[in-house]
Amino acid sequence: MSLTFRNYSVMDRLKHLLDQIDHRGYKAYKQIQGDYQFPDFLLRIDHVQGDPFADPSRCRIFINSDTIKLDQGLYANRIRCVALEDYLGRSFATAIQQHVKGRRGSGKSGEMEIVSYGQQVLERNAVLVREGAVELRIQLALPADGRSVNAQQAKVMLFDELVNVVRAILHSLQDDSDSLQRHVDSVEDQQFLRKQLASKGLLAFVADGAILPRVSGIDDRPLDRAVPFCAPDSLSVELDRLHAEPLRGLGIAKGITLIVGGGYHGKSTLLHAIERGVYDHIPGDGREGVVTDPGAFKIRAEDGRAITGVDISPFINNLPQGKDTRRFSTQNASGSTSQAANIIEALASGAKTLLIDEDTSATNFMIRDERMQALVAKDKEPITPLVQRIQDLYKNNGISVVLVMGGSGDYFGVADAVIMMDNYIPKDVTNTAKALAQAAVPQKVAKMDIQAHIRVPRPRCLSAELHQGKDKIQTFGTRTLRYGRQEVELSRVEQLVDAAQLRAIGYLIRHFGEHFSQQKVDLVEGLAMALDEVESHGLDQITPFIVGTLAMPRIQELVAVVNRMRGLELNDLP
Ligand code: ADP
Ligand code: MG
Repeated sequence: MSLTFRNYSVMDRLKHLLDQIDHRGYKAYKQIQGDYQFPDFLLRIDHVQGDPFADPSRCRIFINSDTIKLDQGLYANRIRCVALEDYLGRSFATAIQQHVKGRRGSGKSGEMEIVSYGQQVLERNAVLVREGAVELRIQLALPADGRSVNAQQAKVMLFDELVNVVRAILHSLQDDSDSLQRHVDSVEDQQFLRKQLASKGLLAFVADGAILPRVSGIDDRPLDRAVPFCAPDSLSVELDRLHAEPLRGLGIAKGITLIVGGGYHGKSTLLHAIERGVYDHIPGDGREGVVTDPGAFKIRAEDGRAITGVDISPFINNLPQGKDTRRFSTQNASGSTSQAANIIEALASGAKTLLIDEDTSATNFMIRDERMQALVAKDKEPITPLVQRIQDLYKNNGISVVLVMGGSGDYFGVADAVIMMDNYIPKDVTNTAKALAQAAVPQKVAKMDIQAHIRVPRPRCLSAELHQGKDKIQTFGTRTLRYGRQEVELSRVEQLVDAAQLRAIGYLIRHFGEHFSQQKVDLVEGLAMALDEVESHGLDQITPFIVGTLAMPRIQELVAVVNRMRGLELNDLP
């Protein structure tokens, strides 16, 4: 009883403080920074915003294990714990929509936010579960009238809305514990499916019944009335799940796989789903049975991007004006040079599977047909197209490729499997394609071992400093990272799926610049060390103050962002 009594008295202190600062200048809100015990939770106001138009105030909510009563099995291992945290964050977001009115005065007054959640389940720092206790990190825009404190509205926000939001979560956990259990089990199953790929010689698996198409190019939810996926018998495999029956589906084996078929028959949609299969998805997404080699990387043409010191000579040689392609740099890459650099950089970042779509490729990088070979002499053509290197990539480097190619049969001869999409259903046409390829004369080129060499960044170029020791790391969706004075354009890095990942990447680059770049290590090796540190010690390592807006990126996207920085400078080779 005494505990309850104390709790209420501390809540009263916050009410009292708010009354005291009512109608005063907005800065007076600073006085409410601190801890307040509510009946169901502890509210910690970490940082109060400077004015009603600034970034909202950073707060945390701590719910102890006796109050929230989570079953221990829900956080029995890291994977389940991440899924549980994801579920709680989504519940909070839903409860905000139901219980928070928003707009309670000028600027952002009255808005309550947790980080936004997409279709993927990512490791984040928005919600942390430790030994059954829960920490939620949220943003509150404290209400203002013009630029003065509006204590009445603040009280409604904190003592009605916030209290109701937490209560709603506690109730929903009681009433619908099945949905939480399903969420956590599903994520663990996806990880379990992905783990079986390597031992079965597969790079991807697409389950029967999966829903691959999305609502639209800007809406990642599943399309209504889509044709469910169904694998052809000859390419079907079965994978086990921990919490459900085994799944049958299409197994894409290591090697070179071609996806062909008429226009609009679902080729790119299948490849997109495979791209996203490096991540886990929420139940109901339609892609819970689609899993991919976790290091798989989408390769595309990206003309206009910057390239710094990348050896693209396996693909590009003899450029006009004798430009060196063994350490190729440009501020304005062409389609083919950008696609070549994307491949070499992906190899450096440890990718063993490359995903390529004709829709987003440079034609001259992909193929060169016989008539063009006859017209333009070999020594006038700088490009050795991928079709002539793709078998070396697999045989010498163990790099598999999944390639969508509906417009040319040039890859029939080099493919290990050919899948035809026919009205959104895959057919195995490997034998027919192989027979057709036999008639064609193979194009001969010298064999080559394709290697990415070491690149050591100069420390100075990775500073986020703007002026007088002030950093700037700012993101715009997943499209742009503003890093100090640089703006990095990322809309064509397609497997960067969440703004929270890009935010973390910004801080990771700074962390790398501050702690590792003096050691003169290779760029990828150094970034991997920074990422390892975060993996073992958490995302809070890399931010100057506690935020809840970060999500773990893959090493591939982290490296991809640095590679696109226009100010990246490398040390000379020893
Ligand atoms: P392609 O690359 O073969 O030209 P896309 O993959 O771009 O074709 O698909 C064409 C259209 O068909 C897209 O609008 C996509 O959303 C839709 N689509 C793809 N797969 C399915 C499916 N299984 N059911 C219904 N519509 C689909
Ligand atoms: Mg397409």
